Amino acid sequence: MKSLFLSLGLGLSLLSYGQDSSAYWQQKVSYRIEVALDDKEHGLRGNTQMTYVNKSPDTLSFIWMHLWPNAYKDKTSAYAKQLLRTAKGKARLRSTKENGFIDSLSFSVNGIPAAIEAHPEWNDVVRLLLPAPLKSGDSVQVQTPFHTKLPAYSSRGGHVGQSYMACQWFPKAAVYDRKGWHPMPYLDQGEFYYDYGDYDVRITLPGDYVVGATGVLQTESERNKYIALGTENRASTRRDKAYTGTTGNKTLHFVAGNVNDFAWFADKKFIIEYDTLQLVPGAPPIDVFAYHHSNAVEGWQQATDYIKSAVRAYSGWIGDYAFPTVQAVEGPNNEMSGGMEYPMITLINMPDATDTALDIVITHEVGHNWFPMMVGTNERAFTWMDEGINTYYENLYSAEKYRTNLVLDKSIPSYLRINSADDLLQAVYQAFNRIPTTQPINTAAADFKSEDEYGLVAYQKTSILLYIFEVTLGKAAFRDAMRNYFREWQFRHPYPEDFRASLERYFKTDLKDLFAGFDVKGPFKD
Ligand SMILES: [Zn+2]
Repeated sequence: MKSLFLSLGLGLSLLSYGQDSSAYWQQKVSYRIEVALDDKEHGLRGNTQMTYVNKSPDTLSFIWMHLWPNAYKDKTSAYAKQLLRTAKGKARLRSTKENGFIDSLSFSVNGIPAAIEAHPEWNDVVRLLLPAPLKSGDSVQVQTPFHTKLPAYSSRGGHVGQSYMACQWFPKAAVYDRKGWHPMPYLDQGEFYYDYGDYDVRITLPGDYVVGATGVLQTESERNKYIALGTENRASTRRDKAYTGTTGNKTLHFVAGNVNDFAWFADKKFIIEYDTLQLVPGAPPIDVFAYHHSNAVEGWQQATDYIKSAVRAYSGWIGDYAFPTVQAVEGPNNEMSGGMEYPMITLINMPDATDTALDIVITHEVGHNWFPMMVGTNERAFTWMDEGINTYYENLYSAEKYRTNLVLDKSIPSYLRINSADDLLQAVYQAFNRIPTTQPINTAAADFKSEDEYGLVAYQKTSILLYIFEVTLGKAAFRDAMRNYFREWQFRHPYPEDFRASLERYFKTDLKDLFAGFDVKGPFKD
C-alpha cells in the first residue's frame, strides 16, 4: 500500500510548529429536566431549565434553539425534504404513520418571559430572544415547559409500541463557538454538534419500565435492583430473568457530568445484563450495562463482554474512557444504520447480527464515546472527524480480534484470516480503495449525494486516508500522535485545522501533502 501515499507526493520539511496560543473558549450549557412519559399517547411532558454560561468574548442578544421533534411534524421539515429526495426515503416517509412534534413551549429567561422567532427555513429551529444582553462571562437560566410527541420510530428517536427511544427529545441550544452560531435542522443523513454541560434528569413513568440513559442512575433502590438482576442474568445460562416493577409511577433520577447530549431508552421487557470494568487500577470501576429482549440474537448474551473489550481497546489506542458507565441497548431494525451513539449509551439496530457483527457494531457505537462524545466535533460539517476516525479504529478492532472487517467480511480470503492483522488491514484498505466513489472526504454530511457515498467516503475513505497517514508517518508514531490529539482536544471542539495543527506539532513538520488527501475526489491512486 506504500504507493498509495507516495502518489500524494509527501515531502517532509522540518519547520517549527509551536502550540497554538490563540485564546480558546467554549460555551457551557447545562440542563435540569423533569419529564413524564405518557405511554398511552407516546408523549413526554416536562419542564427544562437550561443554564447557559457565555464563555465567549461576545455579548449575546439571542440563543438559537433546536426543537428537533418538529422534524417529524410534516413534509415541510428539512428532515422530510431530505427523505423526499430519494425513492427509498419517500417510501420511508410514506410508511411512517405517526408523526412527532414538540409544543406547549413558553420560554422565560431569568424568570422574564422571552419571545421566540421562527427560523426562516426550518420548522425545528427557533431564535430565543434574550430580554437583556448576555455579556461575556455571565450566565442565564432559560426555562420552558414542553410536550414532545414521539413519532413512530424510523430515524433515531421515537417509539415502537411501548418501547421508547427518547433521542433529540427536548429543546436544546445550538452551538456558539469560535466560528459563530451553528443552528441546524434535524436530518436523517447528517449528525450533530453540541456544547458540553451537566445534565440532571428526572424521568417519571409507570413502575414496570426499565430505563437505560446517559448518566448514572441516582435512585438507589432501582439501581441496586438493576445491578442484582443484571449480575444474575450474566451468571446464568438462560439470561431471561425479567424485571418486575412496581404498580403506579416511579421517578428515576439520572446525573451526567460534562456530556454533550442526553438520551434514554425505556421498555418493560428489557432483560438487564450487568458487569463492571476496572479500567484504571485504583479508580472506581465502570458500570457496564446491556439491555436486550428475551428473543434477541444469541450474541446479546455476550454484550457486556463486547462493551468491555471495546472500552479496553479504545482506551489503549486513544486514551482512557472518561465516563462512569457504558451501556448498549438492543433496538429495532433501522434502514439507515446499524446503531446510533449517545454519551455513555448506544442503541444497536442489528436484529439479525452474528456474534462477530454484533461485537463490531457495539464496538463502533461505544467507540463514538471518544469521537464525538469526548472530542466534540461538528459532525454535520465534518462527518469524517467522528465517523471516519471511529471507523479507522473499528477496522483495527475487527482486524486484530477477528481478522475480519464488518463491510468486507464475506470477500476476505481464508489465507488472510490466518495472517497478521497488518496484512489483513492492508488488503482491506486496498479493497476499499477500489470501490468507486466520487466525492472528497471533506464534504458536509448533507452534501453527500447518496447514502452509499456518505458511508463509503465519510467512513471508509477517511479510514483509508488515516491508514495512509499511519504507513507514511509510522504506525507507532501516528497512533501516539492520535493519543496526543485526543489529550489536547478532549471535551473541546476541534476543527479540521486543529486536527492538522495537532499532528504537525507532534511530528514537527508540514503535513500539507497528506492533508491534501481530504480533498481528493474519487479513490486514492495506487
Ligand atoms: Zn458511527
